[in-house]
Amino acid sequence: MVLVARDDPMDTYLVHNPSALLGRPVEKTVFDPTNPHVVWSHLYCAAVEKPLSAAQLEAWGTRAVAEQMVADGWLRRRGETYYPTDRDEGPRIASAHEAVNVRGEGGQEVAIVDHTDGRMLGTIDLGRAMQQVHDGAVYLHRGETYVVDLLDFDNLVAMVHPDSPRYSTSARMDTTIRILEVDDMRHIGPLQVASCQVEVFHQVTSYLRRADSGEILDSVELDYPPQRLVTRAVAYTMTESTLRSWGVGPDIAPGSLHAAEHAAIGMLPLIATCDRWDIGGVSTVLHADTQQPTVFVYDGHPGGAGFADRGFEAFEQWIRATRDAVMACECEAGCPSCIQSPKCGNGNEPLDKDGAIKVLTGILHSLADAH
Ligand SMILES: [Zn+2]
Ligand SMILES: [Zn+2]
Repeated sequence: MVLVARDDPMDTYLVHNPSALLGRPVEKTVFDPTNPHVVWSHLYCAAVEKPLSAAQLEAWGTRAVAEQMVADGWLRRRGETYYPTDRDEGPRIASAHEAVNVRGEGGQEVAIVDHTDGRMLGTIDLGRAMQQVHDGAVYLHRGETYVVDLLDFDNLVAMVHPDSPRYSTSARMDTTIRILEVDDMRHIGPLQVASCQVEVFHQVTSYLRRADSGEILDSVELDYPPQRLVTRAVAYTMTESTLRSWGVGPDIAPGSLHAAEHAAIGMLPLIATCDRWDIGGVSTVLHADTQQPTVFVYDGHPGGAGFADRGFEAFEQWIRATRDAVMACECEAGCPSCIQSPKCGNGNEPLDKDGAIKVLTGILHSLADAH
């Protein structure tokens, strides 16, 4: 078996602890055939490959869908044949920014379509789509690079074309989190660890374009609707003076908690079968509900998918693996293999690697003292 290690905390950990790989079940990819928008994107893909005849559409029972696509400007009809519209034609672009209301709705999937050859590259849930396949995003798929021309909320499709720009993109996002209910709480010395239900609001506000050299080229505004997610979280809090006793003063506390949050998210797949993109996090030196420094790690799926609950159950194992991974990383001040996150809504600022090690070690000492 060969593991090609990527730049993330999970792989850094596995390189140093190969035995952790053994005995893990093979992960399955899930594709939801009940998604009503799948028909839509299949039709579009088919039309790009070869114009569709009315008879074909009739036979598939999709004539009405095709007519709606004509009305929306995705297809045009000449006689009994349906053609895709050219990508720069007006109506399609104009309809894109009509805000979609995603409040309380879960599980909507966006199809990612290469409109130059009609290939569907895959699907992505709507929340993640705003972060990864927003207008102008550089999107990687199986080693190929694409640029997103349009994320269409109405039709739940992201239109992309192959390209190789000399920059990458990262979405900036505002996130707030509120505790709705605490279901379980452990007091461990100066530390509280809770399993709770939370309400998360996030809004993708802009994206940064970064040159291959690392230099930031510009920031592009995005006008996307906020999303509300009710889900499950594992949270830990301690007082500011506890943090100080661990060597984490107020100047480095924000970066330390933020880095500890990122690293823990990257390591959660070790104890729960998930992808880091399934997980979100918030860290703050003063949270309105706890009135204390608090770190939340939450499930990205409405209602929760058990990942945060698993983090609560296996808290010590999780935090220990996280601390070990950050310590083992040979970088100076943090890198994508330890504390940087590709999905950070704050552009990975601020982050403090030494501070994160102090926070995680402080937690482990508190747990050890409580035994
Ligand atoms: Zn590192
Ligand atoms: Zn972050």
